[in-house]
Amino acid sequence: MKPFPRAEISSRALQHNLARLREIAPASKVIAVVKANGYGHGSLNVAKSLNSADGFGLARLEEALELRAGGVTAKLLLLEGFFRSTELPLLVEHDIDTVVHHNSQLQMLEQAKLNKPVTVWLKVDSGMHRLGFRSDEFSDVYQRLLDCPQVAKPINLMTHFACADEPDNDYTRKQLEHFNQLTAGLDGDRSLANSAGALYWPSSQQNWIRPGIALYGVSPVVGDRGANHELQPAMSLVSQLIAVREHKAGESVGYGSFWRSSRDTRLGVVAIGYGDGYPRNAPEGTPVLINGRRVPVVGRVSMDMLTVDLGPDARDAVGDDALLWGPALPVEEVAAHIETVAYELVTKLTPRVAVCLD
Ligand code: PLP
Repeated sequence: MKPFPRAEISSRALQHNLARLREIAPASKVIAVVKANGYGHGSLNVAKSLNSADGFGLARLEEALELRAGGVTAKLLLLEGFFRSTELPLLVEHDIDTVVHHNSQLQMLEQAKLNKPVTVWLKVDSGMHRLGFRSDEFSDVYQRLLDCPQVAKPINLMTHFACADEPDNDYTRKQLEHFNQLTAGLDGDRSLANSAGALYWPSSQQNWIRPGIALYGVSPVVGDRGANHELQPAMSLVSQLIAVREHKAGESVGYGSFWRSSRDTRLGVVAIGYGDGYPRNAPEGTPVLINGRRVPVVGRVSMDMLTVDLGPDARDAVGDDALLWGPALPVEEVAAHIETVAYELVTKLTPRVAVCLD
């Protein structure tokens, strides 16, 4: 018997999405972003399914070491960089690239004694104002990296967009121009585009794109769908009905007793709740597919269960499948009901959800 709840991951969809991104950005290599456990899809699953990617992006060293331990030999890039000098020999030993975004990292590199130089990606703050060097610091930092024997040459250059997921927002063009001006004429590879950059800002594609969410078949843009870009959802979040109950008009259901049915109906109890990462704040009306039929969440989502209104004539039975999101119910649509983004839904699944690669 298959476990439930489970996240079924389609390696075919992942591979299709990588191929689609290569069509969209034909001149770029691809760092497939698999941080946060591959956005909930299982980082090793994703890296193994996407073994033709040119590299993988992680946030932290532990995530990169997990991939190396799992046999991934491709290029790995730490998008947040390293935090302690003790991490530097591990970067060398496991051949892991790192972003350099802060003076403290520069100092650690200058003081380190390594038996091989580290490949670095110098992060420019072109307007996100979260990580990276500002334009008035840039030439000094670049020169220090050039002078540092612990740093491999040439130095690669990168930045990150704040608003690329708003296709009409001119801020991205300004960030792009800022980056291009600051880095004009310098050697080294360049990487700017996340998914939204790759999909909506072709001039940001340059040498390397760094897509995350689009690889999973999901659009980064609110109101958009992966399918609009010929991307295929890679995750189906599946559970089961564990009870079907006759419910009288006027009766409430669940904690707080705030939802009351206006008619006699049948309620289905689905084995998934906030203990699995399904949001507690999913409001009444959030769609769930039971046997392929769309029904609304009613009452409050609890830790292990949620309830749906199956309707008075429902024939659904205990053991029937419930799809919380997947190809037939886009995660973007569920996220819109919950007033969040699809990124949050897929990454918040807890270890109680079995991740099954097909
Ligand atoms: N590059 C960096 C530096 C990131 O932090 C992220 C994710 O947050 C990505 C790329 C991938 O972003 P997305 O999932 O929007 O494609």
